[in-house]
Amino acid sequence: MSAFDLTPLLDLLPELLAGRPLVVLTGAGVSAESGLPTFRGPGGMWEGNRPEDLATPEAFARDPETVWRFYAWRLEKLRAASPNEGHRALARMERLLPRMTIVTQNVDGLHAAAGSRNVLELHGTLLVARCTDCESRFPAPEGPIPPLPRCRVCGAALRPDVVWFGEALSPATWSAASSAAEECAVFFVVGTSSVVAPASSLALLAARSGAYVFEINPEKTPIAPLAAGVFRARAAEVLPAIAAALQRGAA
Ligand code: NAD
Ligand code: ZN
Repeated sequence: MSAFDLTPLLDLLPELLAGRPLVVLTGAGVSAESGLPTFRGPGGMWEGNRPEDLATPEAFARDPETVWRFYAWRLEKLRAASPNEGHRALARMERLLPRMTIVTQNVDGLHAAAGSRNVLELHGTLLVARCTDCESRFPAPEGPIPPLPRCRVCGAALRPDVVWFGEALSPATWSAASSAAEECAVFFVVGTSSVVAPASSLALLAARSGAYVFEINPEKTPIAPLAAGVFRARAAEVLPAIAAALQRGAA
């Protein structure tokens, strides 16, 4: 049971969404129920390091082995994880709506694994390694680190194909995400603390362009004042309820 009665909001959504585009911005909270820790919550520590200190180009230049071992640890957790009810509900919603875009800050690939097709991965993906020289991409390494993975084309070092602190997002992905935010009628912000820019600015862009913003997060975040409605509950609880409401609306 949730602390709040979600029914009035759920009754509203099918009508708001009928025939109109939806954007869903997701963060680490969506994958929490797949057993993957969020960044700012407890359990996010790794060998006494803060993730923020390992997820930078400077850290990689200084000590690629430590950075790769951190990503190998995350990959190991990820390979043991599966999509949860929240991911699966989003995949069902995509099949019910004329246009739905997931913009995710997650690098775990779980939206695609659940069957979502229109996914923009703002921060890249853990499942891929990229050459630091020729930019060729390969599946992320499976074995232990060391040895450090190297490019099969040119021999240079590979790095995780994720966006680190201090790096720019892919311009094409960002442009697709901001256009989707500007054009949508409804914008869900799910499981993100909404403090990491520029992803956090998408909800503002959507609200300014006239979209109804809804937040799904058990905790209050800086997005709350923008929101037309707030679901203070877990993603794996709220998203299936929304998908079911849409299904009833479509029936
Ligand atoms: P976050 O850890 O900052 O926030 C997670 C949010 O999820 C919190 O607001 C929490 O209340 C909420 N939450 C927890 N359980 C939930 C549930 N079951 N259902 C719904 N919500 C739930 O994660 P974020 O907002 O995704 O962080 C933004 C980005 O910052 C990350 O995607 C990442 O790219 C970047 N970051 C990366 C690293 C790194 O190691 N690479 C470290 C820190 C931040
Ligand atoms: Zn190369």
